[in-house]
Amino acid sequence: MRSGMIAVVGRPNVGKSSLVNRLVGFKVSIVAPKPQTTRQHVRGVLHVDEDELVFVDTPGLHRARRSALNRYMNDAATSALGDVDLILHVVDAQRQTAEDAAVTARLADTTVPVLLVINKVDRVVPRSALLPLIRDLAARRDYAAVVPVSATRGDNCDALCAELRARLPEGPWLFEPDQVSDRRLDFRVVEAVREKLILLLAQELPYATTVTLESLETEGALLRASAVIWVEREGQKKIVIGEGGQTLKRIGSAARHEIEAQVGQRVFLKLWVRVKRDWTDDPAALKGFGYA
Ligand code: GDP
Repeated sequence: MRSGMIAVVGRPNVGKSSLVNRLVGFKVSIVAPKPQTTRQHVRGVLHVDEDELVFVDTPGLHRARRSALNRYMNDAATSALGDVDLILHVVDAQRQTAEDAAVTARLADTTVPVLLVINKVDRVVPRSALLPLIRDLAARRDYAAVVPVSATRGDNCDALCAELRARLPEGPWLFEPDQVSDRRLDFRVVEAVREKLILLLAQELPYATTVTLESLETEGALLRASAVIWVEREGQKKIVIGEGGQTLKRIGSAARHEIEAQVGQRVFLKLWVRVKRDWTDDPAALKGFGYA
């Protein structure tokens, strides 16, 4: 029996969440077309034959910015690297940036084997450009393996899985066989609301919001949940609520559908919007919201 913890690292938007979701075959983490959407570790667990693969999906290891929230996200990503058996460094085949180089630099001293995953190969045209790209990226350090994949199409993900399985240490499983995520129902509700905020609100605003759960109870076949969307200012509250409450209604309805699809149960979801001034730069508020 083998079991291993696998950290998934890389700059925002390279497809880390998409890759974990593809490998695990279940939606465990937020996937959204904007950077910095995974703030906390979310593990996906894959069981194949005798093997258990536990993925730690880290927030993007991005360069330091001022706010306490950004510092928290960087610390969370770094701490995930300390205690794992393998590291997957995910890069985007289309574009490498200084942020990718910064991640490579953060991995320079680790003794944990690093596999390079070159994602989004479906976007590489012409196909003949792929081989020189692989050669160039592979030369940047001593990788345990270099695997080109497409997380969204699934190309070569089986090969990646085989590379990972070949390197798992022996040990007992940490999760029950049918467990795909260690996140509980309350976390799923909060994540669903956050995902819809990101999808339905313009550019920067989602990063000034966080979501907490007020109540969660089962009533026969019905799941009743209420959650609070926290913003930094009154003006942001108006935007989240929208003209005649339209925006909040759309967020709530989209989140409800998402949760219903995940739990296979009818859901009644009530959302509130509240202001906590400048919470993203307030250590006490961050702690209160669970970023600690
Ligand atoms: P993360 O921030 O690294 O977790 O990235 P996400 O998984 O949220 O993906 C960022 C964006 O890239 C999303 O719009 C994904 O749909 C897209 N994406 C992820 N993997 C692929 C891929 O293999 N091919 C293409 N074309 N797009 C991808």
